Parts: sequence; C-alpha cells; structure tokens
Amino acid sequence: MMASMLPFDALVLAGAMLALPFGASGSGTQTRPASDPAPPPAAAQTVTIGHSVRGRAIRARRLGEPGAPVSVLVVGCVHGNERAGRAVIARLRDAAPPAGVALWLVRDANPDGCRAGTRGNANGVDLNRNFPYRWRRLPPGTYYSGTGPLSEPESRATYELMRAERPVVSVWYHQHAELVDAYGDERIARRYARRVGLPYRFFYAAPGSITRWQARTIRGSTGIVVELPAGELSPASARRHARAVLALAREVR
Ligand SMILES: [Zn+2]
Repeated sequence: MMASMLPFDALVLAGAMLALPFGASGSGTQTRPASDPAPPPAAAQTVTIGHSVRGRAIRARRLGEPGAPVSVLVVGCVHGNERAGRAVIARLRDAAPPAGVALWLVRDANPDGCRAGTRGNANGVDLNRNFPYRWRRLPPGTYYSGTGPLSEPESRATYELMRAERPVVSVWYHQHAELVDAYGDERIARRYARRVGLPYRFFYAAPGSITRWQARTIRGSTGIVVELPAGELSPASARRHARAVLALAREVR
C-alpha cells in the first residue's frame, strides 16, 4: 500500500541527505525538515598514503567533502632541509575549504628527510627528481634521481594520491629562492604570487620533477612551487600563505 511506504521512503531520504550509511537511517531520530540548511561538511579525515624508507607513515589530511569534484593538494615539506611550509599546513589544519573542494594537506611528503633535515629521503634520493616524466639518471649527491622513476616509497605514495585525487592544483613549499613558479596554468600561480608578495618567475625545468609530471599527465592540472625565504616563516607570512591557498581553492572550484 502506498500510504504505508511513505514513512520508510522519508526516512531513507533523510538518511541520504545526511550522508549516513544506508542502515543508519532506521533510527528515525535523524529526520529533519527539508528546509534546514545543508549539513556541515564531513569531518576532516586523515589517511596514511604510504610509508617512508624508514617505515614512517606518510599522512594526508582531507578537509571538505569526500568525493568533492575538485581537489587541491598542499605539501608542506618535500625537501627535508626546506621545512618552512609546515607552518602553512599548521594554519590550514582546521580550515574550511569552499563547497565542492577537497583540500588535501600533506605536512611531510618525505618524513625521514623532513625529520633529519636532509634534502633527500633516507636513501639520499631527491624526491623531486624521482617522478616519471623526463626522468633522467642523476648521480648520488644533491639531486640524486634514484635508481629509476618512482624508485622511492615516498614518491609512490604521493604519486598514487595524485593519480587518485587528480588535484586541479597542487602547491609545494620549498626554500629559499623567494619566487613562485608553475607548470600548467601560470595565471593561478601568478595570482598566488601576488597575494603573498613573491615574484612569479620560472625557476628551471628539472628532470623527474613532481609538478612537471603532474601538469603533463593529469589533464587540466597545475603544479605550483612556492620558494619561501630562508629561515622560519613568521606567523603573519604563514597566515598570508594559508589565505592565498584558500583564495586559490575558491578560484578553481
Ligand atoms: Zn626544494
């Protein structure tokens, strides 16, 4: 009978609107008038995306809706002796990205190096020379490429995250050339640069670099390198960069 089915349908609908698992709609206490404002975004979620050479977890924190149509990735530290960008991640930790955007935060993409203060990972590999696009063998030393593309577990972790999330923009903090450069849509990077008071200037094309791989293989994607000044970021600068990230997220959604 139609009449007896209606309450059930209403409950299922209410459950769906609250993004509850299907079975959770049966309690009957979650119903609410359809005129209520949209529910708040799902709580932030931290996932382990891989492990370093020394077995440290590589964590990514998602803010905003799971499955949002647009993802933005921000990485605080990839070269372990360039750690100032962690202050921006700390500022963003509980930020509310705009609707429709999942903001992914990776504080340390190179946990062993970021802890030890070394550019490379525990194998001495420069992760920003270890990605598959135009990878080239570079000898052990500052720019050691590793033994092959994605030879390092840290590279594979961020590679898989980016392949799954397909970020429209990624922002990678480095030091200390004091500039912003990008592969992809440079207008996005120029606006970011203006907001934080750094010049936009093309740095150099590195073989096996992450942002270059991103822009060449993820359609419509832009990879931005932000070269912060030497030393620690002041609280005011960290705030400025965090605001610039959120402004960028609003632009690209
Ligand atoms: Zn760097």
